[in-house]
Amino acid sequence: MRKPTQELARHGYEVTVIDVDKSGRLSLRALADAIRPDTALVSVMWANNGDRRDFPIEEIAEIARDKGVPLHTDAVQVAGKIPINLREVSLQFLSISGHKLHAPKGVGALYVNRRSRFHPLMLGGSHENNRRAGTENAASIVGLGKAAEIALAKLSEEQTRVRTLRDRFEKALIEKFQARA
Ligand SMILES: *Cc1c(COP(=O)(O)O)cnc(C)c1O
Repeated sequence: MRKPTQELARHGYEVTVIDVDKSGRLSLRALADAIRPDTALVSVMWANNGDRRDFPIEEIAEIARDKGVPLHTDAVQVAGKIPINLREVSLQFLSISGHKLHAPKGVGALYVNRRSRFHPLMLGGSHENNRRAGTENAASIVGLGKAAEIALAKLSEEQTRVRTLRDRFEKALIEKFQARA
């Protein structure tokens, strides 16, 4: 988000960046305090791609909704890893990237809530209900659909597998350090 917000700033928009604390946590108070009456959008990663720490998206969504500001979330790191239920979290925009869940490269998706104001980035043809000009890459889109289907079917199995790997790694590290002590 750094580059797109810098570009917005160049066009005269005011951008407020809220840093996380030392342990990677976002202060909800700082977020609430930063939202002004003329704030157009809040954008937050659902999970960070460095440490994959999840942000409390439900609470963030609640703050944005209370203030009447649309919320975008970058869900690239969580898609296919945890359940995403858009009936349970009230947000307006959500983006995912295909290749992070084993779909082909070069395809992703932007969810746009039906009631959200939306101005397309790419203008031209009327593709995708005027939301993104350009002929769709149908093969990749089908690939993303299939990848999402497989990821959803294997979600809990995959969570167990990764948890086992993490626990084994953690145990090995602790044993190594204890052996040295
Ligand atoms: C990988 C990643 C992106 C970028 O997606 P690409 O399709 O690879 O450009 C954006 N946000 C997060 C959190 C990511 O992990």
